[in-house]
Amino acid sequence: MRQKNKRQGEKHSWRRDFQILGRGIRFVGRLEPRMIPIGIIKALCPALSPFVSIIMTSQILNTLLTTRDVQTLAAQVLITIGLNWFFSSLADWSVNYRNVLILSMARKQWMQLSTKMMEMDYQTAENPQTHLLYQQIWDRCVYMGRDLWGVVEKIESLIQGLISVVVSIGITAALFISVPTAENASPFTRVMASPYLSAALLALVVLSVVASVMFSLRQNKAVIKMSADKEFSRGNRIFDYYINHLQDYKTGKDVRLYHQRTLIREEFNRSYNGVSKKLIALCRCNGRFESLRSAVSVTVSGLVYLFVGCKALAGLLSVGNIVQYTGGVTQFISGFSMLMTQLADLKMMSKDFEFYFDYLDRKNVLPHGDRCIKSTADGRHELEFRDVSFRYPGSENWVLRHVNLKLAAGERLAVVGVNGSGKTTMIKLLCRLYDPVEGQILLDGVDIREYDYEAYQNLFSVVFQDFKLFALEVAQNIAADVDYDPARVEEALRQAGLWERVQAMEKGIETPVYKEYYADGVEISGGEAQKLAIARALYRQAAFVILDEPTAALDPISEFEIYSRFDSMVGERTAVYISHRLSSCRFCRRIVVFDNGEVIQSGSHEELLQDEGGKYYQLWTAQAQYYDEESQGEPDGLGMAAASEPS
Ligand code: ADP
Repeated sequence: MRQKNKRQGEKHSWRRDFQILGRGIRFVGRLEPRMIPIGIIKALCPALSPFVSIIMTSQILNTLLTTRDVQTLAAQVLITIGLNWFFSSLADWSVNYRNVLILSMARKQWMQLSTKMMEMDYQTAENPQTHLLYQQIWDRCVYMGRDLWGVVEKIESLIQGLISVVVSIGITAALFISVPTAENASPFTRVMASPYLSAALLALVVLSVVASVMFSLRQNKAVIKMSADKEFSRGNRIFDYYINHLQDYKTGKDVRLYHQRTLIREEFNRSYNGVSKKLIALCRCNGRFESLRSAVSVTVSGLVYLFVGCKALAGLLSVGNIVQYTGGVTQFISGFSMLMTQLADLKMMSKDFEFYFDYLDRKNVLPHGDRCIKSTADGRHELEFRDVSFRYPGSENWVLRHVNLKLAAGERLAVVGVNGSGKTTMIKLLCRLYDPVEGQILLDGVDIREYDYEAYQNLFSVVFQDFKLFALEVAQNIAADVDYDPARVEEALRQAGLWERVQAMEKGIETPVYKEYYADGVEISGGEAQKLAIARALYRQAAFVILDEPTAALDPISEFEIYSRFDSMVGERTAVYISHRLSSCRFCRRIVVFDNGEVIQSGSHEELLQDEGGKYYQLWTAQAQYYDEESQGEPDGLGMAAASEPS
């Protein structure tokens, strides 16, 4: 009973594998529709051309040994040359065409994976399971050469094998059909004409093919085991990590100054040693099965040649038949073996597709509502955190606890607190990168989960602490688009205090940022990058402007300029300003203090300072004291920018 169940399970797994494979083939067809027809043409040429040689050589030999008719011979030679030329030209053309399609397909494939990464919920993108899946796809494609278009190669070989088998059966069937022998035939002739000998040889041929398929299946098992090996993936991941970081030339400063070359080389080797040991073991295993397979195939082919030779000796075959049968049987063995091997390989390919589809099918977890955001006369909205608590997925620790906070339309709110107190997390929840685990966030009195997701996110212009710019033109970075309004780009740059610098660049707002891909690109400092990120937020003209430590990389003068221009920069919009430099928050009428994920104080700078036992007073005096020691003065925006972080 157990055995029966096991067999049913195996059947199911084959069926499931081929279902996934079917989806994979349709998927490849959609990704690059020309790939499969070209693959079929490519398969037909090598499958048919050997038979042209076999059949035509046999015909020519027969003509030479019988009629010797010159016209027939000339026609046969011309047909042979013509067909060979046709097949070889078609094969060359299809191989070249297919190579071009492979490039196009590779591009589309990685583009699709990257698009999925950009479109999935931030929370899903951050999930370690998502990273592992992506790594497994990467490992298979990059380290094991198992790209998705491989399925077309397999189908090509399958077709080639199928044609070889069908045609070779057609041209060799007569070899195994016993012919009646003359009354006075010798015992040797009788043995060679015996149907039992033919049947035994046929059985041997089939057995050799079955053995070769078994070897393929065992080989595939080893490859599947290897590609699902977490240690293998981890080793590759560490290897990729160092490769990618070293590609970024900016890493070179630390590498040189801290003489990290040996450390990195050791790490490289350590990660790769484990991987290479597994690869060597896999190669050994493959080598063993390959040699077993060729030993079986060579032995059986030899026996078939012997059989054909003996039959010819017994006078049962003509010279033309000898060529036809030996060639036909060889083609049958290789064709059948190819057919079976490709079927086994296709089954294995379903595992590649499984990883791929698991990644593409990863579901977004944040609910997307369909409620429209009501437009208001002044374009402003109210926000409220109502008893919001949050912990990151997979973590036990509460990062926000019972946060209650109202943000009135047009208000400027400063959020302060030491590092790790939950300020940035609060912003991530506000922008719906995550949803609260408990409590609600309301926009104009409605739970934000009810709104259309994109429309809601469009309400926010955020400069995160770890903002990212791309190696694109200045204006494209600011507009976050290929098309932009130059006047608005200039205005945003002026407000962020970067206009003079950009104007001085040779290509102005069209200057590429960074030198990675453009020789005329411009390297910008950390502070300039931060101003560019502020300009990007201002260009968007969203209802809420949120700046998370926006002046951390700015020099004191630039920082002062940002503060003094803050009101005109933000205009009528509602603004949240996060900083752990308290002096930089004084221009906001209301300041809330975060500590350990809770809002512990709220009020104006003056009100908060009156509570001498409060956190704000403690942080303020700690910073002021440092400033006083440095220059014996009052803490202000300029002075505090030079002060150390209070965390
Ligand atoms: P702040 O902005 O006040 O410096 P954060 O909101 O960035 O603080 O972080 C608050 C806490 O949440 C920290 O302890 C941090 O380690 C943790 N944290 C931040 N991001 C993640 C994350 N993606 N997964 C798990 N924990 C996180």
